[in-house]
Amino acid sequence: MQVEISRRKFLQGTVAMTVLGGTALSTTNLFSSVHTAKPVTGDINFGTTKTGTGKITQVATLCEMCVNKCAAFASVENGIITKLNPNPLFPKSKNMLCPRGNAGIQSIYDPDRLKYPMVRVGEKGEGKFKRVTWGEAYEAILNGTDKFPGMKKILDEEKDNRSSFLFCAGEGMAEHTFKQFYQAFGSANWLNHASICLQTVSSGYGVTLGTYPQSDLENAEYIIMAGANRAEAIVTPDSMDLFKRTKGRGAKLICIDPRFTNTAIKSDKWLAINPGTDLAFVLALTYVTLTEELENKEYIEKHFNNYEQYKESILTNKYTPQWAEKITGIKAKEIYTIAREFAQAAPKAVYYPGRRSTFSKNDFQLRRAMAIFQALHGAIDCKGGLVFGKKIPLKSHEGLAPLYERSEARAVVKNTNAKVGEAGYDDCAVVSGGGSWLSWRNHYLTDTHPYKVRGMFCYKHNPMMNMPNTAKTAQMLKKMELVVTIDTMPSDTVMYADVVLPECTYLERTDPVKTFGGVEPSIAVRNKVVEPLYESKPVMEILNGLTKKISKPLFEITKAYDEDVQEEIEDSSEEEVYSEFDLNLPFKHTQEELNHHAVSMYEGAAEKLHKDGVFYPDMDKYFKELSINEHQYYPENKKAYSVRGGAPKTPSGKVECNIKSFAQKGVDPMPIWRDEYNFVVPNGKFKLLTGRHAQFTQSGTANNVMLRDLMPENFIWINKRVAKEKNIKFADIVEVSSETGKVQLKAYPTEKIAPNQVFFIHGFGEESDALTWAYKNGGNDNTVISDGMEPVYGAAAMHETNVEIRKV
Ligand code: SF4
Repeated sequence: MQVEISRRKFLQGTVAMTVLGGTALSTTNLFSSVHTAKPVTGDINFGTTKTGTGKITQVATLCEMCVNKCAAFASVENGIITKLNPNPLFPKSKNMLCPRGNAGIQSIYDPDRLKYPMVRVGEKGEGKFKRVTWGEAYEAILNGTDKFPGMKKILDEEKDNRSSFLFCAGEGMAEHTFKQFYQAFGSANWLNHASICLQTVSSGYGVTLGTYPQSDLENAEYIIMAGANRAEAIVTPDSMDLFKRTKGRGAKLICIDPRFTNTAIKSDKWLAINPGTDLAFVLALTYVTLTEELENKEYIEKHFNNYEQYKESILTNKYTPQWAEKITGIKAKEIYTIAREFAQAAPKAVYYPGRRSTFSKNDFQLRRAMAIFQALHGAIDCKGGLVFGKKIPLKSHEGLAPLYERSEARAVVKNTNAKVGEAGYDDCAVVSGGGSWLSWRNHYLTDTHPYKVRGMFCYKHNPMMNMPNTAKTAQMLKKMELVVTIDTMPSDTVMYADVVLPECTYLERTDPVKTFGGVEPSIAVRNKVVEPLYESKPVMEILNGLTKKISKPLFEITKAYDEDVQEEIEDSSEEEVYSEFDLNLPFKHTQEELNHHAVSMYEGAAEKLHKDGVFYPDMDKYFKELSINEHQYYPENKKAYSVRGGAPKTPSGKVECNIKSFAQKGVDPMPIWRDEYNFVVPNGKFKLLTGRHAQFTQSGTANNVMLRDLMPENFIWINKRVAKEKNIKFADIVEVSSETGKVQLKAYPTEKIAPNQVFFIHGFGEESDALTWAYKNGGNDNTVISDGMEPVYGAAAMHETNVEIRKV
């Protein structure tokens, strides 16, 4: 949902007052009365889940077990969710709910979930809390306890510098709601998951093509998938398109990956590449395209900026397949073949942009090179290529973003000695909206921020597990004087909180309605399925209660230090000025009311979304069941394959090959190879690779007992020959160590990985003993991954650590 911000001005949007409430169901028989100093682990009477004893209702919702947001119907019987089924109406998920999605039912009935507000009573990080009421939790945030200071003290001592608080959040549909709190509060320190995830992908494509496009895999004839493991890392409906609707009808899939993954197994050709050298591979593909004149000249003529300069760079640097073979390990003849086959299939050809994290230091340039290579073949904004699609607009509502005179700008460290051609910041060139987590944390620990940051709000985010160098993250959380976490589970990060606010799970709340762009655009909503269990609440209600408590007292501090506010009060009245600072204003309406307003321009949309979870104009006319598991969402002639006649979405409307403003920040303005990108692993060491698994979504689902049944712990992949030399057998315990830390996990000797590399899946090995199933179930990769960053956005480079291994 878009939010218009009016500084110091809250104009309430026209919000229809019809409340589309979820099913109100009694849950008292599920409440636990247990409360201890540790996170509360109450008893759930699973006897009450006996099915077939009551009337079944179906509630339309959206899955939150990963980022994909597939549509589902929840069956509710006697107030209990008994089953999650796919919702066939949503074009994005095409009547599919993966194993993770099915296991979502466990998220609500997990006995370990956070049930009540809690306040720390033990030492920081010890995980000792006492149960409190919501009022007491808000009071502790405002005024502190004998263990930690409250917001009032911190803000008063920092003379109303609102940026003395950090706000961070993980991905989710309610991230927007939490961000409204951050904006109203007036801090400049916002960190989201981008810099430990997709930052370089979205920015690389963003600056080159104007947006991060989607792939029309359903119609592509040729697909290069490099480093994206769609058969097991994220099995969403477009994975189905890939393997059923693409390969099933004869499209060719080329898999480039250092490991022999499940995607490699399903591909027509798998080529093992040296980790971190994909850029050399793409530059060589580009070389073949240009020297053999395989490019789409008409497209280039119309839609390229600085094509000639890029061509000259590729040719003069001699990025030949023979050159790339030495770097990547992929045979030159394979590179020639792939470039020619891609050109032959274009524009129905896709170099898959991927959803993977940032792996190497050259990741931003890799993404730029991939986008340009794709565009050279004219396979942009067209059927079978990369597509922009359409988006159905929603009505925005206004938020609140007061100006605080004393609030400092974002805590970043400028490189004051920077000359032209050098980065403007001391560890990355560009500061994005989501910031650089690693840079921020490391400067915080070395006291090199321009001012003190003393408090932190953390929403649905687990930096202890998801950020390289866990030991440093623990130090950061220990050092932070006031840590407030809003979450559903007692994660490793929650263990370091001073105040814990339990959010309800996605099945117990309505989230902001969302528009999903694409070839077949639609709007979908996550409706509340059952009332929140225990004392948990949706973040909207949590922030409503919190802001009611803190708004006025914090305004008193603003009044004392902010001369602008003092003058304004003299000119008008205190009440009038306060109305522009009332932190509670964004949270006065319920989420259902805001959603109703957002779709109010489409007749019947709110009702349809409440009942079916999905809406798009002419849906009733277009939607057809074609067979048992195949549906038409839009007729072929209404699909948005091409919306701009091939023109990129950059401000110039052209593919940007040479971005000169980057040169001023010390970033290569065109993708080129540098020697420091070479793959080097010293003798006796191994390059550590990490990745995802179909059964789990990072650490967020680690305690889900249904999923754990499928894979209880992670194993380290070691080349079979190396394992033999080291006398390591299957399931032997191995210690993996780096300069950053050590971790132990079980061995999986295999031929599916090269001798100088090892691999294990991310998201395992939590240290929080409040998580029955996830506690020490394998190894946390971030304990050993070093905190190296790529130099453009400061995104964590996850595959730049060399480790040692030994049998324990
Ligand atoms: S892909 Fe699976 S886990 Fe992800 S949203 Fe869809 S059903 Fe849920």
